[in-house]
Amino acid sequence: PPPGSPDILIARAVPPRPIAEVAARLGLDADRLLPFGHDKAKLPHDLTDGLAARPQGKLVLVTAITPTPAGEGKTTTTVGLGDGLNRLGHRAAICLREPSLGPCFGMKGGAAGGGRSQVIPMEDINLHFTGDFHAITSAHNLLSALIDNHLYWGNELDIDPERIAWKRVMDMNDRALRHLTVGQGGQGVMRRDGFDITAASEIMAILCLAADLADLQRRLGEILVARDRSGRPIRARDLGADGAMAVLLKQALAPNLVQTLEHNPAFVHGGPFANIAHGCNSVMATRAALSLADIVITEAGFGADLGAEKFFNIKCRQAGLSPSAVVVVATLRALKMHGGVAREALGEVDPEAVRRGARNLARHVDNLRTFGVPLLVAINQFDQDAPEEHETLRQACGELGVELVVSSHWRDGSAGSEALAERVAAMLEEEPAPALSFTYGDEARLEDKIRAIATRLYGAADISLDDGVRQRLEEYEALGYGHLPVCIAKTQYSFAAEPAMSGLAAGHVLPVRDTELAAGAGFVVALCGSIMRMPGMPRRPASLGIRLDPRGEVDGLS
Ligand code: ADP
Ligand code: MG
Repeated sequence: PPPGSPDILIARAVPPRPIAEVAARLGLDADRLLPFGHDKAKLPHDLTDGLAARPQGKLVLVTAITPTPAGEGKTTTTVGLGDGLNRLGHRAAICLREPSLGPCFGMKGGAAGGGRSQVIPMEDINLHFTGDFHAITSAHNLLSALIDNHLYWGNELDIDPERIAWKRVMDMNDRALRHLTVGQGGQGVMRRDGFDITAASEIMAILCLAADLADLQRRLGEILVARDRSGRPIRARDLGADGAMAVLLKQALAPNLVQTLEHNPAFVHGGPFANIAHGCNSVMATRAALSLADIVITEAGFGADLGAEKFFNIKCRQAGLSPSAVVVVATLRALKMHGGVAREALGEVDPEAVRRGARNLARHVDNLRTFGVPLLVAINQFDQDAPEEHETLRQACGELGVELVVSSHWRDGSAGSEALAERVAAMLEEEPAPALSFTYGDEARLEDKIRAIATRLYGAADISLDDGVRQRLEEYEALGYGHLPVCIAKTQYSFAAEPAMSGLAAGHVLPVRDTELAAGAGFVVALCGSIMRMPGMPRRPASLGIRLDPRGEVDGLS
């Protein structure tokens, strides 16, 4: 297919190599894999257990400016950079998150990259893949069922039905399920409940942060599901749920290996969103990749205010990872939108809008510098980009003192990302990366951790929280969870808690509406503004364009 063809046609035109061949490039024997058909495999636990002692590769994070409907292409750039590094002869692997069916059929479409920088088999990856999301959904809902069953059979633990903090989940954008009543018709204790999307489940976060099977089972037991009538915490292990949940998740915890369109190794494992969850692929996959490859490229979701912040402050902190470089993806189109141009007018050459929009990039660059990891800006090139717009941005980056590389991997695959790959490889060779500097220390008060993110990274003047929220944070500290990092849930479209087109906000007050303790995942969630943990679909969801063609092939999954 010519450049610019739908992603799915480009992906389908490339026959995948047998997954054993891809694994062999990582030095893995085919008979140690757990194959899922011919082009997907899991790395079983006996294999990953043996990898930890090996020398570790270098880790590169791909993040981005504040997203717009124009698209930034983080996944596309992660794939393109990985392929570019392999083209230069480096042993590189990429780590991505698994797509969720919610965005796939709702707002965004698939999440396997685009153009000539995709992971395949893209249909499988975008749909049921190796079943991990289903396993997570099942494990989560097993715990939900055990709670209501416990109430039904006499409530021996004296659980307060008004203080159950464990909802149900489903991997679908379905706003109708946000609030509901369970136990109707005399089927147990009637109480208010609701659904979150699977990507926001604490089980998803646990799967993504667990170091191994034992850690998985331990974390599952730690989940705080409710309070009893005297206020004491009830954990999943008090209900005896941890063992059965771990059994349901055993296979799901094993990292998935697939390939890029250029047959380079790609780990696609775990899928929390970066707005309502922590936004990073699994620690298991990242660690396996670091043990098997010299360079590992990983993507965190949405803009750097969300994905990168959580990658550093939650994932790297918990897993002891030290990234060596950061690539900030931007597009001229998105910068023009940040500069005030309407989506319909993006075709017009407008260097001034690029300059105005570059303020968004500048904010993210300033923020990322606080972590102390070397960074560069990658422009994901679109066919419509004008040379004078590139020039304007080059100047703006010059003023910021940050290197800019233009990359055409979407159109050209690794032939287009060679320059980017060369620059990233050069950064990795320079001096060893300095120690990662976090936004707050473990010992800070929970409220101050939220405040540190808001004031140091969002440009906020302060946070606001009512007495109830403050009391709950103090209660978490009293229960011994004060050392945990915080996971902010907020809109991806602004530095503030409510979407705003420019993405920029300063001097605002970040409203912390509610808070939840994810004791198993090991973080405290701060819900800011009106963000929901069960998304809805837009008026015209992506699913309206998805169908089987007369030959039975999937059409419209982009
Ligand atoms: P992100 O990971 O930042 O959400 P993706 O990499 O998934 O973004 O890209 C989103 C969509 O934009 C994909 O459908 C992809 O094909 C498209 N896209 C990405 N880069 C380009 C580009 N350079 N030109 C045209 N379309 C692109
Ligand atoms: Mg992505």
